[in-house]
Amino acid sequence: MPITPDTKDWTWVLERACPECGFDATAVHIGDVGGFVRSNAGIWAEVLEREDVRQRPDDSTWSPLEYACHVRDVHGLFAQRLVLTMTQDGPTFPDWNQDEAAVEGRYGEQDPRQVSRDLTDAAFATAEAFDAVPDEAADRIGYRGDGAEFTIESLGRYYVHDIVHHAWDVTHAQD
Ligand SMILES: [Zn+2]
Repeated sequence: MPITPDTKDWTWVLERACPECGFDATAVHIGDVGGFVRSNAGIWAEVLEREDVRQRPDDSTWSPLEYACHVRDVHGLFAQRLVLTMTQDGPTFPDWNQDEAAVEGRYGEQDPRQVSRDLTDAAFATAEAFDAVPDEAADRIGYRGDGAEFTIESLGRYYVHDIVHHAWDVTHAQD
């Protein structure tokens, strides 16, 4: 059975703590983003060592490997959105369909060791890009295709919650 497309709008995570993973993105400042991203990458390196890495918990939930591929691509996506917002005035971000990306990118067939290397590389590159944002650029604005407005700081918050939430997705079931 295919995964149900995730069309939920998660922008509310910019205003309050997430009731599922517990992460409070409102407390994240632009200068913290890089640190969160690097420490999150360490969790994925461990997840990708798991023996059940290809196993879906049920038909409608991604396997840890599929989540890891998604997170790898999220790093690239937010690097791209950051660059757009730094270099253009009020850009609209190209759409990204994460469910199509999962199918087209054959997430479930990837080599976990390769994904681990690529995820780490992508995370560190994007962390560095956020580290380099000067304070005075934190309120530059960009728009998602659906019209949702982001500043560079809220983009960073949204991004950090996303990768933290997915790490929770693949680890909380074992607690
Ligand atoms: Zn969450």
